[in-house]
Amino acid sequence: MKREFFANASHELKSPLTSIIGYQQMIYEGIIDDEISIMEATQKTIKEASRMNKIIIDMLELSKLESEIEVKKEIVKINQIVQDILNNYQSEIGSKKINIFSNIIDMNLNMNLNHAIELIRNLIDNAIKYNKENGIIRIILNNQLFSIEDTGIGIPLEDQIRVFERFYRVDKGKSKEVGGTGLGLAIVKHICSIYKFELKLESKINLGTKITVFFTMK
Ligand code: ADP
Repeated sequence: MKREFFANASHELKSPLTSIIGYQQMIYEGIIDDEISIMEATQKTIKEASRMNKIIIDMLELSKLESEIEVKKEIVKINQIVQDILNNYQSEIGSKKINIFSNIIDMNLNMNLNHAIELIRNLIDNAIKYNKENGIIRIILNNQLFSIEDTGIGIPLEDQIRVFERFYRVDKGKSKEVGGTGLGLAIVKHICSIYKFELKLESKINLGTKITVFFTMK
């Protein structure tokens, strides 16, 4: 598993790095020399470097999760975390004109704060990223569960089991377009396994996806 992870990670990092080297080399050798083309190549370089940065952040997060021997728990206000994350994503939500409907009650869990943030952030991030323009996101939070439903592109049945694997992305082309790392749901799954939360995925292609985290143990 470790070997496969290293192979996948190297591959994922290599493609943006190859682009970065290519663009910089073209600027250095004067193949790209007018101001506009240099600007465009620089922009692409920044985009690829940001992608590498995201992959590394997610890899570090996953490796931290796996190496934690003692998990520091505290009383975490889950409703507050949901609200804070939605606030942080205001510009993405606004530019895609996504409507959010939520039914959230005050809710505390005894867990690690970073785990709670990562769990909810990754699910909200996907519901926005894979949603359509003018799409809807419905969020429910109560004592039993957290669920998030979007009206996005959906996940084909044959991929539904695999999306929780590291680096697995449905339709590589489209996922690349939206800039995912393929590690978000692996992080979500790992956090759920630490707390024995049950995770349920329901999705219909072109209609949307619903992910539910049941706080009650399996
Ligand atoms: P990524 O960083 O690529 O979003 P994830 O591990 O979070 O990685 O998700 C894995 C893949 O599952 C995504 O690349 C995408 O193809 C699919 N996916 C995840 N969430 C959704 C969603 N809400 N709607 C449609 N597809 C999704």
